[in-house]
Amino acid sequence: MPGNSTITVHADREIHPSRAVAPPIYQTATFWAEDGETFAQGAVEPRGKDFYTRFGNPNHAQVAAVVAELEGTEAAMVTASGMAALTTAVLALVSTGDHVIGQKSTYGGTGSVLLNLLPRLGVSTTLVDQTDPEAFAKALTPDTRLILVESPSNPLLQITDLRVVAELARAHGVLTMADNTFATPLNQRPADLGIDLVWHSATKYLNGHSDVSAGVIAGPAELLNRIWDVGLLTGATLGPIDAWLLLRGMRTLPLRVPRHNANGQALAEALQEHPAVAKVHYPGLASHPQHKLAANQMNGFGGVLGIEFTGGFEMADAFLGRLRYSLRSASLGGVESLAVHPASMWRGMLSEDQIAESVPPGLVRLAAGTEDTADLVADALAAAGAVHAAAASA
Ligand SMILES: *Cc1c(COP(=O)(O)O)cnc(C)c1O
Repeated sequence: MPGNSTITVHADREIHPSRAVAPPIYQTATFWAEDGETFAQGAVEPRGKDFYTRFGNPNHAQVAAVVAELEGTEAAMVTASGMAALTTAVLALVSTGDHVIGQKSTYGGTGSVLLNLLPRLGVSTTLVDQTDPEAFAKALTPDTRLILVESPSNPLLQITDLRVVAELARAHGVLTMADNTFATPLNQRPADLGIDLVWHSATKYLNGHSDVSAGVIAGPAELLNRIWDVGLLTGATLGPIDAWLLLRGMRTLPLRVPRHNANGQALAEALQEHPAVAKVHYPGLASHPQHKLAANQMNGFGGVLGIEFTGGFEMADAFLGRLRYSLRSASLGGVESLAVHPASMWRGMLSEDQIAESVPPGLVRLAAGTEDTADLVADALAAAGAVHAAAASA
């Protein structure tokens, strides 16, 4: 097997019908056929690439080929966003009367699917504490069809024991689907641990340049064909240019991830010593309660860390205002560092009680970009020093 850097540069080559070194952009909504039989075949080819762009496009197929090889799965497909990947898969895999298990600490959109969208469709859901390996087993019912996991989780960086969940699910004929956005296939391959389906907000690390919204799902062809069938109906098609940009971004994923990992680790280590910081949530720290488990199932710990300030809501918000390189922005995984204060970002979306249940008020999520490590650490320490001094003199 070639290495990851070779995969991201070459795994899509056979899908290029031309001799152009950089793949062409198939900016077309549809394709023509020479005869009726070929045309009819194109209409039913799962994840095909030259019938009608909602059914698939060569630029989609190129991204899918690279993702499948990186994740070590039989196949992959592309959607218009990470949320489109999740909702399309869930609509394909569960029906009214079924039960789905998810995590309490999870991406906000995933949480809303579990708490609002699925119950409205008559699908019951249970959200568990993912750090308790027995919680998933306790939540199983005879109607459980799907377990949604996310590790590390957003924004608390909690770890799920993917092997344990996969084994439990297999023993009960339940499907598992892992959000691998934070880890990337470079740091973690859930399919190797027995997880059935792996999905990403490709908007984040896979694309890596904060200029595309996209999603991907990787897994066995049979499951992806079922999801693709529903994708034809939900119509969350990624535009050809965005698919092309995503492929271009993925070419350098194996070069970017080690830098994100190094920056995340350095920031976590430096900030956990700071007097303004109560706690740093980062799976690469020996102080992380699940560090051993993380080290066991990951090759690297990623660029995202949670920083809890001693001065609560105000100090966290002030810290963001002091950062020079990390912009206040609701994304992550790009070359530029971005930071958010979840308790203030969620003010318009959740009630105060819901916010208090989900995150500590003084938590900042910092997503380290690929800038020089020394610059990011100096910037974060200067900002922490400034808010610490301001609190001391107040
Ligand atoms: C951003 C994100 C999503 C949602 O993806 P979109 O591309 O914004 O739809 C899902 N999961 C995680 C962990 C994310 O960070």
